[in-house]
Amino acid sequence: MSAASPTYSATSGIQHEEPLVFEHAHEAPESINLPGVQADISASLQAFSRQKEARIPGLSEPETVRHFVRLSQWNHGIETGFYPLGSCTMKYNPRVNEQVARLPGLAHIHPEQPDDSVQGALALLHEVQHWLGEISGLPHVTMQPAAGAHGELTGLMMIRACLDARGETKRKKVLVPDSAHGTNPASAALCGMFCVELKSGKDGRIDLDELKAHLDDETAALMLTNPNTAGNFESDIQEICQLVHDAGGLVYGDGANLNALVGVARPGDMGLDCLHINVHKTFATPHGGGGPGAGPVAVNDTLAPYLPVPRITKKGDTYHLDTDSDSSVGSILGVIGQSGVFMRANAYISAFGKNHLHQISQDAVLNANYVLSRLKDKYHVPFDGLCKHECLLTDDLQTKHGVKTLDIAKQLIDLGFHPMTVYFPLIVHGAMLIEPTETESRETLDSFCDAMLEIAAQCEAGDTQALHDAPVKAFRKRLDETKAARNPVLVWQD
Ligand SMILES: *Cc1c(COP(=O)(O)O)cnc(C)c1O
Repeated sequence: MSAASPTYSATSGIQHEEPLVFEHAHEAPESINLPGVQADISASLQAFSRQKEARIPGLSEPETVRHFVRLSQWNHGIETGFYPLGSCTMKYNPRVNEQVARLPGLAHIHPEQPDDSVQGALALLHEVQHWLGEISGLPHVTMQPAAGAHGELTGLMMIRACLDARGETKRKKVLVPDSAHGTNPASAALCGMFCVELKSGKDGRIDLDELKAHLDDETAALMLTNPNTAGNFESDIQEICQLVHDAGGLVYGDGANLNALVGVARPGDMGLDCLHINVHKTFATPHGGGGPGAGPVAVNDTLAPYLPVPRITKKGDTYHLDTDSDSSVGSILGVIGQSGVFMRANAYISAFGKNHLHQISQDAVLNANYVLSRLKDKYHVPFDGLCKHECLLTDDLQTKHGVKTLDIAKQLIDLGFHPMTVYFPLIVHGAMLIEPTETESRETLDSFCDAMLEIAAQCEAGDTQALHDAPVKAFRKRLDETKAARNPVLVWQD
């Protein structure tokens, strides 16, 4: 494709390069619209007068506004375009949810207000708590954790407390499949347990023999994601849970992929003891950039006594923040967690209603399989069969032309698309994990697939230079991400 031709998403036009705010070369004073300070400040204030010049970047008000707005335009969001980031469930967040969360009676209340002054808000939160219990098949829910990873820690703390109450203090081993998200082993370590990695079977699923070989009287839990991070359903899930329970352990579910199951199948019915729910993924509350999310944890009767407090309870017609518990692991985050996020989730779940929630997962799975079927002849598919809500490809067919996953991802940027998740999961070489979500039209999916097929055709034709040079249309091109993570420069120094 020549530089002059349109991109597949037809984006083009004015994009402004923008230096750091301190790199703008003005003298500071000209940016300030106030009259200068009088030299004869009263004696009493002099002790407080500044000895050195303030290090304020010298920008006028319009320049300041432009600086931040330009930077904001470099962000990609679901409102900007297709966002096929696998495992992240970047679905559209309906605007009505924002209206609901901003209602003064919900937005302007304080977590420490007396219960009887916030009955309406508590009723809405209690409703979400109840629905999450219904949807997961695990009826007892804590709303406190602030994110999925925080939910993992909370769930493992409950598992720890439960095992300790059984006198099983030496059970500290957590089995984690090698396909797991990096937060799983991190949470286990943070909770004072140690991890043993389970090697996935040839089909990318948990290998029952491998599981059996690692189960023993030190096993505290298995942490699993279902469907797993390769987008495949763990079809042996009931047997897996049975084996772990027979060995005296508990099953922790990473619920990040609930978008594949919501309204159709319930993790509690499959035998899991505990599940965190990434509300910012499945239930369409905004996420990205570390913004507020929520990772409520749903548990069965076994773990219910250990839930964090306070809990939102209903007695008669009144709602309470209940701290009454002898065995709770304590408070995990403030009082009730991210209540604004749950107001959005309430609006979202209400909009579908009990009878239509399954449409979410069915459309998400359909969209992922549509992408898979359009790309499977030109990209290597490591695991056969239908996928769930995301499809996994590798760069196997392209590496023989010298093109890697990173090149494909960068070329997608030039073609007008945010790349998919790359190099995760780790169980396949050169992974590309594509999660279209249910909110995309067939036209959008087609234009993304067209771009992917064009890249595959460029490889086959040996026309690969553009792929190695990509992106040419982005201001920042190929960053040293390892260096950025290991040696971040967070403070501007002249
Ligand atoms: C997103 C994700 C997590 C972590 O959730 P956060 O809400 O980002 O903390 C854990 N596991 C999987 C599979 C995920 O996709």
